[in-house]
Amino acid sequence: MNKECSHCGQYFEPEPGFYLGAMFVSYGFNTAVFIAIWVAVSLLKPDYSLTLLLTLIGVAILVLTPFIYRISRSMWIAFFVPFRGKDLPSSN
Ligand SMILES: [Zn+2]
Repeated sequence: MNKECSHCGQYFEPEPGFYLGAMFVSYGFNTAVFIAIWVAVSLLKPDYSLTLLLTLIGVAILVLTPFIYRISRSMWIAFFVPFRGKDLPSSN
């Protein structure tokens, strides 16, 4: 992760441990993935086995972890740092 935004200079780590709270955002995303897979498997294969369900969840989490990690941190900083789009310095 960059230390600051290359466009506006916003520092991305306001304090040590700032992104600890992103863990809870990530937990929410992972829970949504679990539930979505569980519902999909229940509808598509009503007599599914626990092994199938856990395998699908494991594969999905392995594939989605890089995305969930980044989007969770982005959401977490967006909670506390307001977007200043109109105040950005001009690039010319
Ligand atoms: Zn920026």
